[in-house]
Amino acid sequence: MLRVIEKTGHAMSETSDQTITDPFYRALLERDGRYDGIVYYGVTTTGIVCRASCPARKPRPENTRLFLDLEAALSAGYRPCKRCRPEGIAPADETVGKVIAACRTIAADLHARPDWSEVAASISLSERRLRDLFQEILNISPGQFAAALRHARLKEALADGERVTDAIYTAGYGSPSRVYESAGKRLGMTPGAFQKGGAGEAISFAVADTPVGQMLVAGTERGICALLFGEAAGPLRDRLKADFPAAKIVSDDGRMADWCRALKDYLEGAAHWPLLPVDVRATAFQAKVWEALRKIPAGQTVSYAELAKRIGKPGAARAVGTACANNQAALVIPCHRVVPKAGGIGGYRWSPERKRYLIDLETEA
Ligand SMILES: [Zn+2]
Repeated sequence: MLRVIEKTGHAMSETSDQTITDPFYRALLERDGRYDGIVYYGVTTTGIVCRASCPARKPRPENTRLFLDLEAALSAGYRPCKRCRPEGIAPADETVGKVIAACRTIAADLHARPDWSEVAASISLSERRLRDLFQEILNISPGQFAAALRHARLKEALADGERVTDAIYTAGYGSPSRVYESAGKRLGMTPGAFQKGGAGEAISFAVADTPVGQMLVAGTERGICALLFGEAAGPLRDRLKADFPAAKIVSDDGRMADWCRALKDYLEGAAHWPLLPVDVRATAFQAKVWEALRKIPAGQTVSYAELAKRIGKPGAARAVGTACANNQAALVIPCHRVVPKAGGIGGYRWSPERKRYLIDLETEA
């Protein structure tokens, strides 16, 4: 996430917390009986599976695993909760049964972009009626249901230790850039306060050899806080220490392994753009620019002037250029996707040659 520390000193986030963006978890917290029989919640810490309205104390979101039918939960080794008895749920009426059928159709192929009229027709409803029923019973649209389910699958795949790029496909996202759009809102959004100089922060880092030289990846437990390129590991390490003089910095290849591998695979052209959480300090203006950068899909470039327009500050092209130049997290905040309107490659903190390489890599993919 980008935490804005300018002026107030308070951390700000573009979105509210996960409990609100994840309708399934919200239903669980609110003991929303409308979700009973539509989704089931496996609790990884206890091995129990519950319905949304279970009166028991609620698990943390990261310890919750979502199932669309009880059989799947049971075959995954979960035991039915004795308090809420999820095995005894019958659809309240025929319409609820139809919504359940629609949910399963959607879940069966999350890779598909559903044709809603076909989904509706398969359960003998009009598309309009399908939408109304979803709204009435689940309080979300069919599209929001599909998006929430994809997001739940992605979190589960990542929690299972699947590689980021594989997890994206497991979750049924059509392309990494699509994940990227929602990631800014949904992943790595733990609010916190990154103090000046990184005081009180533990930062791990690793250096890897890539086609564009030595790459230093550094991160907190929340996300990548620095990604630097250079010719040798020593100066990169010194640069990191100079940027975070008050932090506890340790070399830790193991902790950085997944991020390094995802980035290396991408740089070698072996994987798509990786979805990685970011944890950087930013002024309010930088945060706007960097968030806008994260919305540019791989393979596209925009001009500094266009980016200025996108953040509602037409005419601030020069300031946008400065914010790009001050980006400490290369790749994950893709400042290489911004080029001069007049043509040419423009400047890049880590050399124009690297920028050219990245743009070519992404446009050829
Ligand atoms: Zn229960």
